[in-house]
Amino acid sequence: MNMSVAREHFEPAGAWAAQGRQPRIAIIGAGFSGIGALIKLRKQGYTDLTCFEKAEKIGGTWRDNHYPGLSCDVPSHFYSYSFEPNPDWTHRFSYGPEIWAYMNKVADKYEVKRDIHLNCGVTDLKYLGPQWQLTTEHGDVEIFDLVIAATGVLVNPAYPAIKGLYSFAGLQWHSARWRDDVSLQGKRVGIIGTGSTACQIVGAIAGEVAHLDVFQRTPHWLNAMPQKKYSATWRFMLRWVPGLQLAIRNFMRWLMEYTFARATLGDEKQQQRVQDACEAFLQEQVPDPELRARLTPDYKATCKRMIMCSDYYPALQQDNVALITDRIAEIVPEGVKTADDKVHELDVLLLATGFKVSDFILPTRVTGENGLELAEFWRDAPRAHRALTFPGFPNFFMLEGPTGVFGNTSLIDISEHQIACVIAIIDRMKQEGVAVVAPKQEAYEAYNRAMSRDIGKSTWATGGCDSWYLDATGTPNIYPWLPQRYREDMLNPDFSEYRFEQLPVAVS
Ligand SMILES: Cc1cc2nc3c(=O)[nH]c(=O)nc-3n(C[C@H](O)[C@H](O)[C@H](O)COP(=O)(O)OP(=O)(O)OC[C@H]3O[C@@H](n4cnc5c(N)ncnc54)[C@H](O)[C@@H]3O)c2cc1C
Repeated sequence: MNMSVAREHFEPAGAWAAQGRQPRIAIIGAGFSGIGALIKLRKQGYTDLTCFEKAEKIGGTWRDNHYPGLSCDVPSHFYSYSFEPNPDWTHRFSYGPEIWAYMNKVADKYEVKRDIHLNCGVTDLKYLGPQWQLTTEHGDVEIFDLVIAATGVLVNPAYPAIKGLYSFAGLQWHSARWRDDVSLQGKRVGIIGTGSTACQIVGAIAGEVAHLDVFQRTPHWLNAMPQKKYSATWRFMLRWVPGLQLAIRNFMRWLMEYTFARATLGDEKQQQRVQDACEAFLQEQVPDPELRARLTPDYKATCKRMIMCSDYYPALQQDNVALITDRIAEIVPEGVKTADDKVHELDVLLLATGFKVSDFILPTRVTGENGLELAEFWRDAPRAHRALTFPGFPNFFMLEGPTGVFGNTSLIDISEHQIACVIAIIDRMKQEGVAVVAPKQEAYEAYNRAMSRDIGKSTWATGGCDSWYLDATGTPNIYPWLPQRYREDMLNPDFSEYRFEQLPVAVS
């Protein structure tokens, strides 16, 4: 794989559609979204594709995360490409390595790895009108007609602002930078964070470590993870019974969205059902009332992304595991000091503290029309038009962009629908000889106004919690309507929301 990008594409700016040539398309990021975009664009006949990936392998989330217990909490047959169903999933909820292997297999099958430049981060994007100038970390510069950012949401680890964080004398790492070379066997381990990742890690390592301290700032509502290993007979049926995989996929999608999306978006009965299920799960799993009280959140279920995890509560009740709810005062060389002045001595400190979710493509510098910087455009909070495009940034699309559908559903399914929308827009550019496309300012503002109005009704806003969905202004940075509505919008884009411009004809 090439390490750097050739400069062969320099040529005067022009409108590809009017010139009747292929658009040069840059795709940034080779996770599920970037790979999906490569495959779908090629299928549609767009072949001048270059994908830039800053890491040394493809995979995104499923390359970076390889902590013990990593699994997807969306059923496997839904958490996969619609065009590449996989009858061989071994479990109802896939483990991380199997998902990454699936992605590699699909990328090999569609021969898209040849389009990907690995170890090639994009550092700068500048709109020159109607094309983009792209600069890589190696200083190479290329010109593209269209740019698709598939740079992910949960990419850049967030480190907690705790006094003395780096003074710890033992080993310390973030869950997304797991040290496979260090065995936790027989060690005194501490973990900060109690979200989905922490629950998976605690369940997986509790039996191996000498002692585990779980530092909880806020308890979470948990639901059981109905994990199941698929039998050979079932997999045989999936392979050979026509329509079975599709039926399972559609059922899983309906179930996930009926259960969680409705519960979040104002269906009080459904919210109560989820609430009751979480409370019953806690009651059943944790008989000790004192421990149960410490694990009971003071906000509504579905205020945060629902955690599905069956190993966590049992692990917390093992003799070698302690739930620490005193506030962390500081990290000291020996371990973690809590507000009661107690030092919890540790050999290893794990940070399951999530990601900088407002970064998206940043810190890549993106400069649109009239010198407008994306970081500046997002100064108050990251926003987009339909979680995909931005006024002032023509010919630029972002998959899984701000205010996207980030709840308990398959992000692969969402990005596939976004790619369909991007292709519909590019097709239109081609048909009409269009050089420039961007959402209209008024359409963007109307859309965001409607979102702000309706997000206030969701439990993300009213549930009484702090979560990674909230932006710096305290507003949930997430899609406020049912995912089905988003899918329909993506499949039937309203072109009147966009400005489509042809290049002025030169007069001699
Ligand atoms: C631990 C964990 C568990 C998750 N579980 C689920 C789940 O159960 N269900 C679910 O739907 N989602 C889950 N997600 C969300 C997951 O991120 C998405 O489902 C999906 O993998 C996103 O794919 P993506 O391609 O959009 O982004 P990513 O997988 O994040 O890929 C983005 C890629 O872009 C690259 N990149 C970024 N910036 C640049 C740059 N400037 N130049 C070049 N390359 C760049 C990155 O290196 C990366 O490879 C989970 C995420 C994490 C972290």
